[in-house]
Amino acid sequence: MTLQTRIHASRRSPTVLVAGGAGFIGSHLCDALLQRGSMVICLDNLFTGTTDNIRPLLNHPNFRFIEHDVRDSIEIEGEIDRIYSLACPASPRHYQVDPVGTMKTCVLGSINLLELARQKGSRILQASTSEVYGDPEVHPQPESYLGNVNPVGPRACYDEGKRAAETLMFDYRRMHGTEIKVARIFNTYGPRMLENDGRVVSNFIVQALRGEPITIYGQGTQTRSFCFVDDLVRGLQLLMESPASVSGPCNLGNPHEVTIEAIAREVLACTESASPLRFEPLPKDDPRRRKPVIDAAEKILGWRPRVALKDGLQATIAYFALRLAGESPTLVP
Ligand code: NAD
Ligand code: UDP
Repeated sequence: MTLQTRIHASRRSPTVLVAGGAGFIGSHLCDALLQRGSMVICLDNLFTGTTDNIRPLLNHPNFRFIEHDVRDSIEIEGEIDRIYSLACPASPRHYQVDPVGTMKTCVLGSINLLELARQKGSRILQASTSEVYGDPEVHPQPESYLGNVNPVGPRACYDEGKRAAETLMFDYRRMHGTEIKVARIFNTYGPRMLENDGRVVSNFIVQALRGEPITIYGQGTQTRSFCFVDDLVRGLQLLMESPASVSGPCNLGNPHEVTIEAIAREVLACTESASPLRFEPLPKDDPRRRKPVIDAAEKILGWRPRVALKDGLQATIAYFALRLAGESPTLVP
């Protein structure tokens, strides 16, 4: 009996485990899954996540929070139909604090979640990243591009960890027939990013709102393609529920490519801030450009981003404005 049939036959709500569910993307995913009627188990060690992100959910009858580190083996009673593997710090500032710990999170965390998936017969989706392409020599990046990662640089703990996690997913599929999905997520932004996590969108917005200099690393000519979190969460769910034969890897990102200086100017315009631009050294191994080819997501999932950069920035700015004013914006599902 297939998983889908099993869920249907039992007529119960699917139980979904979101590892990393108290983080930025994970908490939005928990909201969306609860809205669809799923039972949601959020597992997180609160390294970069916070209970603030899931506070409105803590009393929800279909929501359960487990504080746990994915590097330790995971035992959960009952059936689990779906596992989203998002538990990993995503910002360079955070994943570089303890690089060996990051690598262990990617490798041991994936093995522990895959073992759980094997025991429970769950389908599992790995939150991989555009960082598997490193500093790309092919532009834009299709899934077939094998990447250009420096294996010994300061970003390698994350990039190589995520590459190893993809390997483990496909090895479990080959060895055990585990139903896997691999999403290669490109830069994502939105409410609930941490104001101090060092990522470009949160940095620029917080700096603009405080009237502090906007810190552009390098000349600001490097590019990224920014996807609003609601679009990304919709893509993740579509990939998870795609036919069992679809494993990916599948790029999920917004193909609208902008330079870092352009995003700084957009944030200044949206916030009407007079903050000056301040140019600082470019970190080592910082990728020069990044833009997804999303033909596979469009064709197989019928997915493409809907939220324009300006609109997504306005929503994110509104969130940070409340936070900086000392209010805690509760985004009730
Ligand atoms: P985030 O740091 O906000 O969320 C990660 C969550 O995982 C946090 O709640 C954190 O506490 C938890 N976590 C970290 N290590 C853990 C561990 N060992 N055990 C249990 N929980 C742990 O980051 P995010 O932006 O929400 O990213 C979520 C996932 O998506 C990550 O796997 C990340 O690599 C991936 N991703 C994100 C982006 C992006 O632009 N945000 C891009 C590509 C991939
Ligand atoms: N960046 C910047 N100023 C900042 C933070 C980041 O110019 O205050 C640059 C960074 O060097 C990179 C881009 O913005 O070129 C995106 O950085 P982020 O850390 O958000 O994501 P990643 O590099 O992992 O794609």
